[in-house]
Amino acid sequence: MEKLKCLICGMNISENSYHLNNDSFIEKNEEGRIMNCPFCGVGRIYIDSVQEIYTVDHKSLDTQSLQVLDHAMKLEVFNGEFYEEAGKLSKEKELKKLFKDLSNIEFMHARVHKRLGEFDNLPKLHKPDYAKHHTDNLLLEEAYKRESHAIAFYKKNSDKITCPVIKEVFKALSDVEKQHQFIANAYVLRK
Ligand SMILES: [Zn+2]
Repeated sequence: MEKLKCLICGMNISENSYHLNNDSFIEKNEEGRIMNCPFCGVGRIYIDSVQEIYTVDHKSLDTQSLQVLDHAMKLEVFNGEFYEEAGKLSKEKELKKLFKDLSNIEFMHARVHKRLGEFDNLPKLHKPDYAKHHTDNLLLEEAYKRESHAIAFYKKNSDKITCPVIKEVFKALSDVEKQHQFIANAYVLRK
């Protein structure tokens, strides 16, 4: 397989990794047909064999942009932790795998923001009690809500950012959240 790299998260995509987190995608990756980054989920246009990964000159970022990146990082950790917990709480085996894959992707989004903002660590957040989502359907409903919130967050906050690279990253990640929203909804309808 040709050496490919994700320009958003910087991960290498190889024959050993292309299949990772495949449950979180509408169009699954196959060997020789890579549709999404298996680590952060972004679309094919952000995967390349020669281009450099997206970077920003940190010193050029204003306070507002850094604040937005910090919020974005927290939001993704918050959702990553939810999916991690949802993977444990859910009953159906297939759904457990989906939640685990979604958790991996959201945590990678948080790492993308961490890199762009040059933050030292991922935040430690106060974990809510997830026990009220005690059925698979309630977990899926919560997933749908969180994805809708994330999409709205990226849309609203993109306007506060002047850096075109960050705007592009927000668009790429928001498109990934749209897939998640679709998948959560499709899962409910199927049940
Ligand atoms: Zn990626």
